[in-house]
Amino acid sequence: MSDPPLIVSVLKGNGIGPEIIKSTIAVLESTCINFEWREVPIAEESIKLYGHPIAPEVVAQLRQTKHCIKAPLIVKPGQGKTVCVQPDGSQSTYPSLNNAVRRELGLFVNVRPIRGYTGVSGAYEDLDIAIMREVTEDVYIGHEHGIGNDLAAEAIKLTTRSASLRVAKYGFEYAVRMKRERVTCVHKANVLGMTDGLFLRCFYEVAAQYPQFKVDDVMIDAACYLIVKDPKRFDVVVTPNQYGDIFSDLAAGLVGSLGLAPGANISDDVCTYEASHGAAPDIAGLGIANPLALILSGVEMLRNAAYQKQADAVQRAIAEFLQKKQYLTPDLGGIAKTEEMTAALVQGVRSQL
Ligand code: ATP
Ligand code: MG
Repeated sequence: MSDPPLIVSVLKGNGIGPEIIKSTIAVLESTCINFEWREVPIAEESIKLYGHPIAPEVVAQLRQTKHCIKAPLIVKPGQGKTVCVQPDGSQSTYPSLNNAVRRELGLFVNVRPIRGYTGVSGAYEDLDIAIMREVTEDVYIGHEHGIGNDLAAEAIKLTTRSASLRVAKYGFEYAVRMKRERVTCVHKANVLGMTDGLFLRCFYEVAAQYPQFKVDDVMIDAACYLIVKDPKRFDVVVTPNQYGDIFSDLAAGLVGSLGLAPGANISDDVCTYEASHGAAPDIAGLGIANPLALILSGVEMLRNAAYQKQADAVQRAIAEFLQKKQYLTPDLGGIAKTEEMTAALVQGVRSQL
C-alpha cells in the first residue's frame, strides 16, 4: 500500500511567484514523496472568487492543512492596508497581504536558515546560521502616528513576555532537532532596557532549561560587524522582529543572493514556507527567476514533516549543483533560464536518492 499523501496547500503568489512555485513543485516531486498539492486562491484570484484579496474562505482553506508553500505577493508602495473580513463580519486591518497571511494564521516565528555554498558564496561558504525572527510584535505592529503637521512621529515597540518566551523556546527546540551547538540572542538591551531587556531576560530564562548548548547574547550592531568578520561566530540566532528582518538580509547578501535565503513561518497548527525575497516584479514573466530560495523553503517543510532523508537529498543536490556553477540564473552570474536550472536540479535530486 502506498504512503498517505503529504498534503500541501499552495499559494502561487504573483510577480515571479507562479514561476518559482512551478519549479519548486517539480524539484520536490523528484524526491518521489507522495504529495497532494492544494492550490488556494489569494490576491487577484481571491478577489475574483470572493471579493477580497484574503477572504475568510481562503483562511479557512489554509487552516485545513499543516503545510503551505507560499510564493511572494507584490507589495506596492502606497498600496494601502489589507483588510480581512472575519466570519462574524468584523474587519482586521494589516500593513500588507503577506502580513495578513502571517497574522491570520497566527504564525509566530520566521525561521531563516542561511548557509553559504562552495562556488557562489566566496569567503562566506562556511556561514551556516538559522535565524529565529519573532514576527508578531516589535515596531512592526503598525502602531505609528504623526504629531502636528509633519513635526514629529511616534511608533510603538511592543514586547511581551509570552511572545519572547515562545520564540526562545522554538529556537532552542530547533537547536535540539537540528543538532546545533550554540544559541545567541541578538538585541539592543543596553539602550532599550524595557523592551529588548525583557526579550533578553526571557531568552535566558528559557536557556536555563537547555544546559547542553553554548548560550550567549550580542548587540545587533556588534552582530552585524561580527557576522561579516567571523562568519562562523553564529549558529542559531533568536531575535526580535526588526533585527531579524535586517540581519537575515545581511546574511543572505554575504552568501551571495537573496535567491539563496529560504524561510518558514511557524505556528502550532499551520506553517508557511516562503523565500525571504519579494515578488521581483521587474523580472516577472522573463523566465529567469532563481527558484532556489523557495525550493530550500520546501526543504525546511520536508524536515518539519519528518522526511529527513529526502530533505538531505535535495539539500545535497543543491550544494553540488552550485559547486558546478552550471545552469545558474542571472542573479548568480549565469545565463540559464529558471526551467533549465530546474531540470538540472531534478536530475541532481534523482541521483542523490
Ligand atoms: P518586498 O517588498 O516584497 O520584499 P523587495 O522590494 O524587497 O520586495 P524583491 O522582490 O525581493 O524586492 O527584489 C529585490 C531585487 O532582487 C529585484 O531586483 C529582484 O529582481 C531581485 N530578486 C528577488 N528575488 C529574486 C529571485 N528569486 N531571482 C532573481 N532575482 C531576484
Ligand atoms: Mg524585501
